[in-house]
Amino acid sequence: MSTPPSWFIEEVDHSGSAIGFRVKRKLHEEQTPFQKIEIYETTDWGNLMALDGCIMLTTRDNFLYHEMMAHPALFSHSNPKRVVIIGGGDCGTLREVLRHREVEQAVQVEIDERVTRLAEQYFPELCEANADPRAQLLFEDGIAYMAAAAAESVDVVIVDSTDPVGPAEGLFNESFYQSCFKALRPGGILVQQSEPPLTQLALIKTMRQLMRQVGFAAVRTLPFPQPAYPTGWWSCTMARKGADLSGFRERGAHSKSFPTRYYSADVHKAALVLPEFMREALGE
Ligand code: SAM
Repeated sequence: MSTPPSWFIEEVDHSGSAIGFRVKRKLHEEQTPFQKIEIYETTDWGNLMALDGCIMLTTRDNFLYHEMMAHPALFSHSNPKRVVIIGGGDCGTLREVLRHREVEQAVQVEIDERVTRLAEQYFPELCEANADPRAQLLFEDGIAYMAAAAAESVDVVIVDSTDPVGPAEGLFNESFYQSCFKALRPGGILVQQSEPPLTQLALIKTMRQLMRQVGFAAVRTLPFPQPAYPTGWWSCTMARKGADLSGFRERGAHSKSFPTRYYSADVHKAALVLPEFMREALGE
């Protein structure tokens, strides 16, 4: 396609820093009704997808994020049967969720169908579970979907969204959390990508407050590495409709029947221990 830059650089305003990957060529670019999608072939990180200039994933490091968005929440639930993923159009989180045999249905609600169609083309390994009969792919607004969801119909809601701007802005507020709380069965878990702890601690604090405000009794934030995202260090925040998130099905995680590259029972335990500055700021 067009003459490539030799580096794809994402400049990050809030952190005053940038992330860059050396690229061989641009594979695709299009403007959808929701966002600009760009896909590059990099020299060392496989393919890279960016939405509105923000890096969503690379072939090489997406396992860190996708495993941490799925497995801590699913192993914290005693019997996750029905899972809803909001966003997640690259389908990597869906693939991880469907590795759990007890999951009977996983619904992915992505606003932009083009993200999924391009992931099928450029990240086929992430889409290998899309034909699983337990998977349902919907292309609609996740905010409206959760607002209309039947009460107590879901075990785990995973919010795998873009940053809290544009179509994802409404996924970080009280009314969305209220919808999730209502849709979850008792003991149900909401997990949301919660941005970089080093530079977005105030946002994480607000998210946690709002989650508690709508009724989630237990809230935990788990940090993990993610080279392709601002600061290289990311987090997810889990909230339970019921007490306590410190325990999980540790034996199940130790003897899991599927392969992972980052997640393990010990990594899960370690992720529940917060660094001092986070512990102090978040009051854990
Ligand atoms: N892991 C990524 C990150 O944290 O940078 C997110 C990847 S995933 C591709 C994010 C997806 O959320 C995008 O495909 C975007 O279209 C979708 N999205 C944003 N707002 C949404 C909404 N309101 N409902 C459903 N999907 C939404």
